[in-house]
Amino acid sequence: MKAWRLTPSKSLTLCEEQSEATPEGNVKIKINKSLVSRPDICIYDDSISKPENLVPICSCCGMVVEVGEGVTSLSRGDRVFVKTQRFCEACLACRKGKYSDCQNVEYYGITRDGFARDFAVVQETDCAKLPDRISDDSAVFLDYIAIATQTIISTGVKKGEHLVISGMSALGLVLGQVALYHQIVPIIIDVEEKYLEKAKELGMYYTVNAKAQDPKDKIFHITGGKMAECVAHISSGEVPLSVSMDCVGKSGTLAVVGRHGGKYNLDCSLRPVIENAVTVIGIDSSGSNMQIAINMIANKAINVESLIIGTVGFMDIPTLLEETANSPDHLKKIIDFKQ
Ligand SMILES: [Zn+2]
Repeated sequence: MKAWRLTPSKSLTLCEEQSEATPEGNVKIKINKSLVSRPDICIYDDSISKPENLVPICSCCGMVVEVGEGVTSLSRGDRVFVKTQRFCEACLACRKGKYSDCQNVEYYGITRDGFARDFAVVQETDCAKLPDRISDDSAVFLDYIAIATQTIISTGVKKGEHLVISGMSALGLVLGQVALYHQIVPIIIDVEEKYLEKAKELGMYYTVNAKAQDPKDKIFHITGGKMAECVAHISSGEVPLSVSMDCVGKSGTLAVVGRHGGKYNLDCSLRPVIENAVTVIGIDSSGSNMQIAINMIANKAINVESLIIGTVGFMDIPTLLEETANSPDHLKKIIDFKQ
C-alpha cells in the first residue's frame, strides 16, 4: 500500500505501508479518482491545524475490493463515492438517523487520513454506490452537488425567485446549475471574468463583475428594486461577505456556504440582520442529499465535465497541491490513480 503523508517539515512523503484489515461494517476500496478542494489546500499550506503525518485529500471514488463482516449493501466490484464526512453511528443523533447532528463527526483528509493513497478502509455507510452511467470523473463532484442541494433546501429559495451566488468556485458553478434545475434565477457575482464566462456558458444569464460594477446597483435593477430573496456567499470565493450582505432583500436569507476545513474571511457588519430582518445560516454539509446528487448527474441535469481542465497521476499529487496552493484555480484537475 502506498500513501502520501504530510510530514512535520510540510512536505509530502511517499510511504510504503502494510495492508489494513477490513473490520466488521467496513469495506476496503481501491481508489480510482479524486480532486483537490479548498480544504486540501488549507491542510497543505498549514492554515488550519491537522493531525501529524496526515494523508491529505478529502474525497474520492473507487472500487470495493474487500468486504468486512456484516456489510449488506456493497459487494466486491461495486464502484462507490466516499463521502467526506464520517459519522460515528453510535451517538444519539446518529442512532436517530440525524447524521448532520453527529456528536463525533470526523472529516477525511482533515481530522483523519484522507485519500492520497492507493487503498483505503472506510465504513459501509460512508459509501454511496455509483450506477454504471456515472463516470468516475463526474462522481468526484458529488459532494459539491449535495452541498448545493442542501443550500437550496436550507434557504427555502423557490422557483422564480432570485438566488445571488457571490464568489465563484467549483461549488458556486455547481450551485448555479442546481438553481437553474429548480427554476430559480441565479445571479452570479465574481471578480474574475474567466469564472463569469464559465457561468454564462453553463446557462447562468445574469453575471456581475464586482470589479467593474457595483453589485448592489446591478442587483437592484435585475430584481426591480426588491434585491434578492436569497444570497449564497461562497466562503472560498473572492467576494467580501459585506458585498453579499448588501444584496439581500428585506426578510431575505444570507447563506454562508463552504466545505468544512476551509479558511475564511467572514468579517461583516450584522446591522442588516436587524434593519432588514435578514436571516443568516451556515452550510458546510451535504446533508442527506447524496442520492439526489447521484440522480442529478445520472440524468445530466448538471454538467461537471466542463469544470475539468486536465488529469494528473498519483505521483503528481505533491506537484498538484503545490501548484494549486500557489495559484488557486476553481476549475479542477482530476487525479487518476491508475496513471
Ligand atoms: Zn454520531
